[in-house]
Amino acid sequence: MLIKVDQNVCIGDGSCVMIAAQSFKLNPDGKCYILNEDLGPEEKNQSGVVEAPNTVTMDPRDIIIEAARACPVGAIHLYEDDLSEISL
Ligand code: SF4
Repeated sequence: MLIKVDQNVCIGDGSCVMIAAQSFKLNPDGKCYILNEDLGPEEKNQSGVVEAPNTVTMDPRDIIIEAARACPVGAIHLYEDDLSEISL
């Protein structure tokens, strides 16, 4: 699974962090980012969109999907390994 978070859309309410704390975290600026990703904070903020492939240390798939569904502004997008988007 590929996870993308659009920081331009994120309002920092923390719903995703409460559900999937192994996968999402809030930056000091109140924007969500993805744990276990390779990108540094500067790169994340430049593009405004962060993405990360799933890893064994992240939350289970169902929890990540639940967290994405809980986002009040639809800032989280999930994709299968073939890059087809998972409908939420
Ligand atoms: S649930 Fe959505 S708006 Fe809230 S912190 Fe996560 S990505 Fe941002």
